[in-house]
Amino acid sequence: MGASDPFDVVVIGGGIVGMATAMALLDDGAQRVAVLEAEDRVAPHQTGHNSGVIHSGLYYRPGSLKAQNCVEGRLALLAFCEEHEVPFEVCGKLVVATDRREIPALDELERRGRANSLHGLKRLQAEELREYEPHVAGIDGLWVPQTGITDFTEVTRAMARRVESRGGEVRLGSRVLRYRREGGVHLLETASGPVRARFLVGCAGLQSDRVARLCGLEPGVRIVPFRGEYYDLVPEAASMVRNLIYPVPDPGFPFLGVHLTRMIHGGAEAGPNAVLAFKREGYRRSSFSPRDAASTMAYGGFWRLAARYWKTGLAEQWRSLNKAAFVHSVQRLVPGLRGDQLVRGGAGVRAQALAPDGSLLDDFAIVRGERMIHVLNAPSPAATASIAIGRAIAGMVQG
Ligand SMILES: Cc1cc2nc3c(=O)[nH]c(=O)nc-3n(C[C@H](O)[C@H](O)[C@H](O)COP(=O)(O)OP(=O)(O)OC[C@H]3O[C@@H](n4cnc5c(N)ncnc54)[C@H](O)[C@@H]3O)c2cc1C
Repeated sequence: MGASDPFDVVVIGGGIVGMATAMALLDDGAQRVAVLEAEDRVAPHQTGHNSGVIHSGLYYRPGSLKAQNCVEGRLALLAFCEEHEVPFEVCGKLVVATDRREIPALDELERRGRANSLHGLKRLQAEELREYEPHVAGIDGLWVPQTGITDFTEVTRAMARRVESRGGEVRLGSRVLRYRREGGVHLLETASGPVRARFLVGCAGLQSDRVARLCGLEPGVRIVPFRGEYYDLVPEAASMVRNLIYPVPDPGFPFLGVHLTRMIHGGAEAGPNAVLAFKREGYRRSSFSPRDAASTMAYGGFWRLAARYWKTGLAEQWRSLNKAAFVHSVQRLVPGLRGDQLVRGGAGVRAQALAPDGSLLDDFAIVRGERMIHVLNAPSPAATASIAIGRAIAGMVQG
């Protein structure tokens, strides 16, 4: 087969969803598969900047793509980590209510968890919480034994090795810049040269709407970036977090709230908040891209969202600028933590799809065009669910 022969499938994006898709395609018998990653390494964006939590499937509406893929994907992920010697721990997590008004939402989480076949969920009285997390304070809680921790960059690297060992190619430094169609074949111009493909799968995360549009498909939504900032706990404070401590999330908002996470390589962090970002791959508070900011501001959907959530948005901006406000939200869960025990850490940026009516897409979203598929919304728990998502996409490609 000549070098200019088209690939059977080209996957755009070397994050965990793209890599899991390539892996599933090769497992399903595709012969020539390539992953094109814009940056010089795999998992450089969302996948490499997340909390490292293997989600159980607790939060998601039963029957949703998130619920189905999280539960199936978690089990597949654990088996994958075991087989490829990627470190992980199933340590369980505690969801803590600190206010009576949160109890209906905690009841709903418990109901969803059971509907999503999570066994061993345990409702805890205030005095029982400390048996699980000795430094926590709350009035009610839910113990979720299935939740775990890992390092998703390591998972993605292991996936890339498996793709290559099965004859697939992972091309780094290969940002897709232009697209055209030549007969029945997609022709991509990339930063490392032209690539031809019979089928395309877009898994471009923060750029997914633009990549879909570049390939001639109207995405119907716009990606709006939300930065999530973390604080690291100094070593003597990290021991105050045994495993994972989460608040009860605001049911009207797709983010889980600032939580305390023990990390697989040691230490613990608090975060992430959810701040509107003015640059899609902007990891600092000062990050600004005129193009990305204009893309958000010129979108009617953004203003409809802002009209509904301006108060929450301002509170998040304030918590980003003001350390005391951030510390306060952590102290609601663990009152003994002091401000000087938290130091500014890293950040990640979520690719959140926003509909023209101002609603934040809650579920995973995949759109299809002629011999192409684009993943347009793959927020948390997509790292946990990646192997299941990859299998589903491979099935759609074969079908
Ligand atoms: C702060 C934060 C915390 C999170 N915590 C968790 C968690 O604890 N557990 C969990 O399960 N999930 C979590 N998530 C969600 C999870 O990280 C994402 O759902 C997942 O990483 C999405 O993977 P992806 O491959 O779709 O996107 P990405 O990892 O962003 O990958 C997309 C890739 O496409 C590449 N790309 C873009 N444009 C082009 C182009 N033109 N050409 C070629 N390549 C291109 C990018 O460089 C990038 O590498 C979190 C996310 C964030 C941001």
